This record gives sequence, structure tokens and C-alpha cells, in this order.
Amino acid sequence: MMNIYNPSNEQLLKSIQEDSAQSLQDKLHQLRQGQIQWEQKAVADRLECILKFGELVQENIDDLARILTSETGKPIQQSYNEIRGAHNRVEHLKNNAEKWLADNVIEGLEGTYEKIMHEPLGVVANISAWNFPYNVGYNVFLYALVAGNSVAYKPSEFAALTGLAITDLLYKAGIPKDVFQCIVGDGTIGQAMLEADFEGYFFTGSYPTGLHILKEVSPKMVPVQLELGGKDPLYIMDDVKEVKVAAINAAEGAFYNNGQSCCAVERIYVHEKIYNEFVEYFLEEVEGYVIGDPVSEKTFIGSLTRKGQLNLLRNQVNDATSKGAKLLLGGDELAGKGNFFAPTILTEVNHEMLVMKEESFGPIIGIQKVNNDEEAIALMKDTEYGLTAAVFATAQQRAEKVLKAMNTGTVYWNCCDRVSPNVPWSGRNKSGVGATLSSQGIRAFTQPKAYHWREV
Ligand code: NAD
Repeated sequence: MMNIYNPSNEQLLKSIQEDSAQSLQDKLHQLRQGQIQWEQKAVADRLECILKFGELVQENIDDLARILTSETGKPIQQSYNEIRGAHNRVEHLKNNAEKWLADNVIEGLEGTYEKIMHEPLGVVANISAWNFPYNVGYNVFLYALVAGNSVAYKPSEFAALTGLAITDLLYKAGIPKDVFQCIVGDGTIGQAMLEADFEGYFFTGSYPTGLHILKEVSPKMVPVQLELGGKDPLYIMDDVKEVKVAAINAAEGAFYNNGQSCCAVERIYVHEKIYNEFVEYFLEEVEGYVIGDPVSEKTFIGSLTRKGQLNLLRNQVNDATSKGAKLLLGGDELAGKGNFFAPTILTEVNHEMLVMKEESFGPIIGIQKVNNDEEAIALMKDTEYGLTAAVFATAQQRAEKVLKAMNTGTVYWNCCDRVSPNVPWSGRNKSGVGATLSSQGIRAFTQPKAYHWREV
């Protein structure tokens, strides 16, 4: 049995049955049978189940938000935001899936006709993270299902109750049990999934696990997609319209969801001309955040989901201060029960410090002063990750010069820490391989078949 604890008060929420290697094989067998019929259905019929699922999620949002908050420590308002926000994937599929999955017929060469068919991969494995289980889950399993695949969905062990609740609503919406199965457990069952025969692996999680998965499954010669971590930079130029607004937005980008977003702002560079003013407003904003019980509607900073993260954050603070950083706020966990870490601001930081190089994934930020755009670009690019990069600035040309220089899957001008279904979500280097969302995000779950024919 797997025990699920509330990370904000350490109480046991539930004990649930984990999958075993045998139950995984049984589910895989079922999914293989189910996929054959599922693929035969019209896209519109598959889509109908997804739309129904979307409705059911909204009808049950109070229960779902409560479950999400109880197992992850996410403030309740942010749980509502996530569940409501993820619905844009459902709308996006409603508006586009049939068009994207239709055959592309081409008048071909030498009196032939040619077409591209988009066939499903088959049975795919979706191994997922806990930080935004609706967003990152929908990006994979909704698109995979609409494209005609069956899915073995392994929610994180830190969001397993949410995973089971999602599964229940998918079944109520008409997705057959032999087309979608929830695989319950931690990395042990995840490892068993790598050893089983899936026709595609879609992973969201950390770089070390992603690298391990890539190494393990590459001999299978099936598609592998990895949506991994980041160390996303934000540069505040000296021409921003209002430094205060820039500081408020930067703080939200760094501290929303307790900094546990793959695209959270993880390091900030500020032009020297506005540096002092920016830091003042930033500190004032973060000092105003309400920290505490995630169930309270007023809370902005809840508990961290994983206890182990407290040590990592403390190490980053100690490493930075031992190398000369100034601790402006926070710096340690809060006394009492639960995985609470005080929102932490470090200034006088540099790239010798872990906090500016390694993913923090928590409520901690380093702010570094820069003299000009060239220095900012060099620092922003000094990373092994490549998820997102942002610039707050007024002059478009100047902002775009910086953004063009970034080797990241996403760039933002005057916004940050956001995902939209209209554009691909992808990482470069240690941030991953492949893309979800947009038309590319549905193509990820299909394989092309080229069809040539001649009228005789
Ligand atoms: P994690 O790598 O610890 O775990 C992710 C999943 O992998 C879990 O379901 C876990 O049980 C499973 N797993 C662990 N060991 C495994 C193994 N040997 N074989 C197969 N599966 C195994 O990551 P996490 O803590 O759940 O998520 C946080 C990380 O995810 C952060 O680095 C964050 O940046 C990243 N993330 C990225 C995106 C993105 O879209 N790029 C989105 C959300 C989170």
C-alpha cells in the first residue's frame, strides 16, 4: 500500500493500492485490446468523450481542488486556477483536433495522388509530475486519446489521488477502461513501465529521471518525449514603463505555486539604472505574501510538496551566503509541522552560486545587477537548461534582440511563467526533447503514413 500524506500538516490522507509488475502487464494487455477499437472510431466520437470529461471536471471542481490542495500543499485558489486554466486544452482540441488529424491529400507527382495519414502510435506510457497535474497531464493524455492511442497514465506518487480522480471522470465521460488506465505507484512502477512494451514514452519530470528514461527506452526505437526542468531567467531592462509593476510581475513569476513551476522565474537580472528601485519594490511585494494553510483562500504561499526540497533550498541559501550573497528575506524553513520554506530573496549573487545555476523549484530567487544587455544575454545563456527566458522592456527591438539570442523553447516579452495551448511547449538541452501543445502537440502522438495512389 502507498501512504499519501498532506504536506502542509503531515497527516495521513489515504493508503492506496499500488500497481505491481503483474497488474501493469494486465493493464497493458487490456489497453492493447482496447486501442484497436478506439482507433477505428471517428475523431469526432473520441472528441465527444474529451468534451464530456471537460464538463465533468468543471462540475466537480470543488472536490478536485480540495484533493489537489490536500496532497500537494498548493494554495486552494491556485488549485482552482489550475483546474479552470487547463480547460483551455479541451477547447483547443474541440476547435482543432479534427482538422489536424484529417488526411492531407496532395495532387502528387507524375499523375499520382498522395496523402499523409496521421496514425496513432498505439499504447503509450505517460509518466507525470505532481506540480501541475492537470496542465501537464492534459498536455499528454488528452491529445494522445484524441489521436487514437490508449494510455497508461502514471501520475506522480505526490499527486496520485488527483490522478485517480481524473481517471474516474474520464471513465464517466465515456472513455473505455481498456483505453485509459491509471498506474499507481512511485519510481518502482515507473521503472517497470520502462521495461514493458509501450509504443511511446511521454515523460514530465526532472532532468535526472528524464535522462534515465531516455537511456532505458532508446533501444526500443519508439518515440520518447521529455518535458523537464529549467533555470529560467528574467531580465528587467532600464526602460520598463513602471519598475513597480515589473517587480510585482517578476515576484509572481518566481513565487506562484511556491516556485514549483517548470517555467517559474528562477533567476533575475536587473539593469543597474533601476536595480535599487526594483529590489525595493520586489521585497515589499514578497513581504506581503500570505504564507500558511493552503486551504485558506487568502494564502499565496502554501507548503512545498516534497519534504526533500527543504534541504535542497537550505543548501542553496548556505552556498550563496558563504560565497558573499546577501540574504534579504527568508532563508530557512518555518518552525512547526509541514514543509514550509520562507520566501527567500538573495542579492549580490553570481554564477559561482548554485542558486543561479541549479534548478531550485521552490520559493527562492537570486537577483543580480547587470551593466548592459550584452552582460544580461551572456548570463541568461549561461545554463545547461533551455525551457523559457523572459524580458520586461518597453522597446520591442531591444527586447527581441535579447530573446532571439536565447536557446530556449519559449521566450516571453513583458510576461513570464505562462503556457498556452496555441503554441508548442518544448525544452532544449537539459529541459527536454519534443513538444506538446499546438498542432505539434497532437502530431507527437501520431506517426505519419505516406499513401501514394494512381487512378487506372
Ligand atoms: P521526478 O523526475 O522526480 O518524477 C517524475 C515522475 O517520474 C514521477 O511520476 C515518478 O514516480 C517517476 N519516476 C521516478 N523514477 C522513475 C524511474 N526510474 N522510471 C520511471 N519513472 C520514474 O519529477 P517531479 O518531482 O515529479 O517533478 C518536478 C520536475 O518536473 C521539475 O524538475 C520540473 O521542472 C519538471 N517539470 C517539467 C515540466 C515541463 O513541462 N517541462 C512540467 C512540470 C514539471
